[in-house]
Amino acid sequence: MNFKNLGLRAEILRAIEELGYEEATPIQQKAIPSIVDGRDLIGSAQTGTGKTAAFALPTLHRLQGTGVCRALALAPTRELAIQIEENFKKYGKYLNLKLALLYGGVKYGKQLEELRNKPDIVVATPGRLIDHLQQNNLSLSKIEVLILDEVDRMLDMGFVEDVTKIIKKTPRNRQTLFFSATIPEEVLRLSKWALNDPAEAKIDIKISAAETVSHALYPVPAIQKFDLLIALLKQIEFESLIIFFQTRRGTDKISHWLSEHGQNVRVLHSDLKQKDRMAALADFKNGKVRILSATDVASRGLDISNVTHVINYDVPQHAEDYVHRIGRTGRAKTEGEAFTLCKPEEIPLVESVEKLLGNPLPRKFLDDFSYREKQENLAPIGAVVSKKRNRGFGSRVSFGSRRRR
Ligand code: ADP
Ligand code: MG
Repeated sequence: MNFKNLGLRAEILRAIEELGYEEATPIQQKAIPSIVDGRDLIGSAQTGTGKTAAFALPTLHRLQGTGVCRALALAPTRELAIQIEENFKKYGKYLNLKLALLYGGVKYGKQLEELRNKPDIVVATPGRLIDHLQQNNLSLSKIEVLILDEVDRMLDMGFVEDVTKIIKKTPRNRQTLFFSATIPEEVLRLSKWALNDPAEAKIDIKISAAETVSHALYPVPAIQKFDLLIALLKQIEFESLIIFFQTRRGTDKISHWLSEHGQNVRVLHSDLKQKDRMAALADFKNGKVRILSATDVASRGLDISNVTHVINYDVPQHAEDYVHRIGRTGRAKTEGEAFTLCKPEEIPLVESVEKLLGNPLPRKFLDDFSYREKQENLAPIGAVVSKKRNRGFGSRVSFGSRRRR
């Protein structure tokens, strides 16, 4: 469907045309008309399907006239807040709207300046926004549109109290939009309190998770995980690659080992100073380094083009995180590959991922790798999928075919 049929203003259509967006994505088609109509909405769809534009475009559309702090978008991480603000700027290029971007870990000076400049739209992480509210640096009493992006993550990160406090400071007659890749019970509960007769825009994860990403599981004895990672890195042709880890310590340790093996790696996790987090991300985004090692702080919402591969060094503890991690590749219809290294103890976690996806992950073994255990002991459940029989889900994973992107 063309953007022209969604009821958006000409200035917005012009900006998206310049960005080269031809068709609205399914979540955009479902969400935009209801938001333009002024309805509350819960939107859920797989990562990388254009949820930001699904809320940003109609929000920009609705902000006619003038007034301070009329729209507020909340995001769980600083990087995500930065990205949302960039999107508002791009989409609102031909509208005369001002923005303020508020997040923690940096000084207040620039943020105060942006607030004094009477912003129409505020994009923030909850913690820093509360600090500003306590210092009376802004008021939320004129909020017309309130957006919570990655709500499930926000609640996972323990922001429920902060978020509730913030919502209470906004007017009751506001329009409220919740966006999330998944809608677990806690999100539903919060939405019942915060949203008024919401429209629903839901695109099923099971369909979209497989579309542009090929998946494979690499069973390996625990002590050989790092060796397998090195062997994998030698075999795949990646443009850029994110390796996800469960813990910050693991991220640091393995990244250090990777550097010792001559790999140029940047690290992103929440123990680092904000300055270093941004530098790591910038180096990765502009191609200075091709490997980013990260915890799940990077698994949500970050939109980095050309991530051709995601490797899960650890199987994620929460099945949803698998979907978010692999969502960093295969974005906006480009193809990506997702590999998960799995020691025998992690098989139960794999099973819950498979349950969520509705499909088994194809098991793969590297040809020139001397496994210290028999392959059948490493992958006791499911059928070991041989290359020939590997049909359907993940069937495009193959080291034989070297696709160039
Ligand atoms: P999500 O929030 O669902 O994870 P994003 O909003 O970050 O996804 O969008 C993913 C990418 O898709 C971004 O690079 C964005 O510019 C691009 N994109 C969004 N909508 C469209 C569209 N209609 N056509 C083409 N590209 C789009
Ligand atoms: Mg997003």
